[in-house]
Amino acid sequence: MPRIALIPGDGIGVEVVREARRVLQCVAAAEGLDCELSDWDMGADRYLREGVTITDEEFRALDEDHDAILLGALGDPRVPGNEHAKDILLGMRFRLDLYVNFRPCVLLSPEMSPLRDASPLRLEIFRENTEGEYTGMGGSFKTGTPDEVALEENIATRKGVERIIRAAFEFAVSRGRGRVTLVDKSNAMRHVGGLWRRVFRAVGEEYPGIEQDAVYVDAMAMDLVRRPHRYEVIVAANLFGDIVSDLAAEITGGLGLAPSANIHPGRNAMFEPVHGSAPDIAGSGRANPLGAIRCVGLMLDHFGHGDAAARIEAGVVESIRAGCTTPDLGGSLSTSGVGDWMVRHLEASYASPR
Ligand code: ATP
Repeated sequence: MPRIALIPGDGIGVEVVREARRVLQCVAAAEGLDCELSDWDMGADRYLREGVTITDEEFRALDEDHDAILLGALGDPRVPGNEHAKDILLGMRFRLDLYVNFRPCVLLSPEMSPLRDASPLRLEIFRENTEGEYTGMGGSFKTGTPDEVALEENIATRKGVERIIRAAFEFAVSRGRGRVTLVDKSNAMRHVGGLWRRVFRAVGEEYPGIEQDAVYVDAMAMDLVRRPHRYEVIVAANLFGDIVSDLAAEITGGLGLAPSANIHPGRNAMFEPVHGSAPDIAGSGRANPLGAIRCVGLMLDHFGHGDAAARIEAGVVESIRAGCTTPDLGGSLSTSGVGDWMVRHLEASYASPR
């Protein structure tokens, strides 16, 4: 029985997780999947109330007593610098060692794409999630003076690089994808880039059936606009993966639709929509819950329920086709209106034979 921790967090995170939860309960009931859901009070309110972001015991419980986490969003204008969000989000990535950041960018409907060629597009991005420039290693000297020096180290370990590259190849094999592409900047960053290239070649030799190539990140930025259809699975270090996946999300429908997973294969996984807490629309009922709802699909797929995940994806496609969406996608439904529509649609889909 999967044990799932729900962390709505801040702003629209609370609103979109409410709808994602309803979709999860609907699908779990129809599939006969017994999920144990627990609600976690974590975010700006608690931080401002108690001065607590996340405790050691909570990290332990999330890691050992749960199979997955569904997170809404963290970030609140009342916490300048959003230190609570960093503690919780980066804390989970590092302490639960969620080294795969998986971001599927799928064009669900041609009119969602700003590209000239809006034929079907599926880009699946594996971003390294625990190293690179995000470890906080570095420092500054003579801060605030004209002689200031600042260092932000780019950390790459053989183990860290190898496991994310292997995860990308394993995914390609298990899902029948034809090509894995490494994104780097090894012409300018010879040490770290060189390690990525060498490991990519070495691991790639174990997967002779998969086409493989390596592309500099600047060339990839152009290619994603010019000829994105040439790519399938993309693997990249933390910083490049962050940038490339935002670009890929935008050409396939934008923030409101994009889901992501943070995974340590075989151990734990945290699912979160790519968007933030969007304080500008929080409380207005305008938040698009489809990114969070697609996270439920990713979670079910992760648990081995690919059919249930496909039903949710088909429901999202149908809601866009029928115009039953929030204003950011041109519709006039509220956040809960989209949740209602999805639940009704899924119930009907389970009631009628396929
Ligand atoms: P973060 O720093 O946490 O990424 P941000 O402020 O940079 O946050 P978002 O909170 O994602 O980014 O918001 C960016 C813009 O996109 C805002 O104008 C917001 O209203 C809009 N937006 C984000 N998510 C959604 C959503 N689910 N539905 C509708 N609009 C959204």
